[in-house]
Amino acid sequence: MNLPVLPPHFGAHRYFRYHDLLTQRYGGRVQKVSLNAGFTCPNRDGTLGRRGCTFCNNAGFTPAYLQRPLGLTEQLDEGIGRLRRRYPQTRHFFAYFQAYTNTYGELEQLKSQYELALSHPDIDGLVIGTRPDCLPESLLAYLSALAKDFPLEVEIGIESCDDAVLARVNRGHDFATSADAIRRVAAHGLPVTGHLLFGLPGESRADQLQAAALLSALPLASLKLHQLQLIRGTALASQWRRNSAAVPLFSPADYIELVIDFLERLSPDIAIQRIGSEVPARLRLAPAEAMPLSVLQQNVAARMLERETWQGRLYRVA
Ligand code: SF4
Repeated sequence: MNLPVLPPHFGAHRYFRYHDLLTQRYGGRVQKVSLNAGFTCPNRDGTLGRRGCTFCNNAGFTPAYLQRPLGLTEQLDEGIGRLRRRYPQTRHFFAYFQAYTNTYGELEQLKSQYELALSHPDIDGLVIGTRPDCLPESLLAYLSALAKDFPLEVEIGIESCDDAVLARVNRGHDFATSADAIRRVAAHGLPVTGHLLFGLPGESRADQLQAAALLSALPLASLKLHQLQLIRGTALASQWRRNSAAVPLFSPADYIELVIDFLERLSPDIAIQRIGSEVPARLRLAPAEAMPLSVLQQNVAARMLERETWQGRLYRVA
């Protein structure tokens, strides 16, 4: 077999790992400290709707310690303490505004939360998670100025590149809105991470692979991939209880193949922050068993070797 010459930024891996990028950029391990700053979401407060996205129960994505009412500084203290015990080699902590829509509010209110986090002595940077329709120019100008002094990243929930799928899960925006937001954030010099949720009802394999080409054409710095898991209390979980055939879920083996097929078609310059997610068992209705993320990573790496493939192998510049 002729070994491929992989891009040097892949290191010893077959895909571009964001973890390696950050470690190299900041000279040591970086950990994000998840926060719940008390924001809401236009898809929940009545602005766009009250039902939210059918797959959403923020508890499924939020560490247990954030379920209790804690101030921002206490959350940072507690989160940093936990991460220090688990990863003693961590060199830098970034405050991760994760729960709900963290750019949805008056600019002065948003500024006060971001700046409070940055005033913590152990926090070096910010990561701000949001929806694509909540990124006004005034906020981007402010974030761009802030990024001159601190590392700052914006995470945008794309979820799917298919408008019919987005409508079916009551997302409240289309793919064009995501593409526009990614371009606008990047134009302000801010690194953008997109979230993609594979397996939403109505999404075909062709749609999932087509997403790799659509996203490669955008100025994304990195991607977080998630596989659909049904969280108790969500509308999608109720749909599944009524008719499980209408909400098919991946087997671990199928998901591994999908991730690799997707990576093959993705630009080798988009870093991968996550290749899947882990929903706590107490919140997960289905699948009954889930592969731990560390095992999923090992299996994807092993299968890429077996398939003699790598990120971008089938990528063609449009
Ligand atoms: S997934 Fe995000 S945008 Fe959708 S309802 Fe939940 S918090 Fe709102």
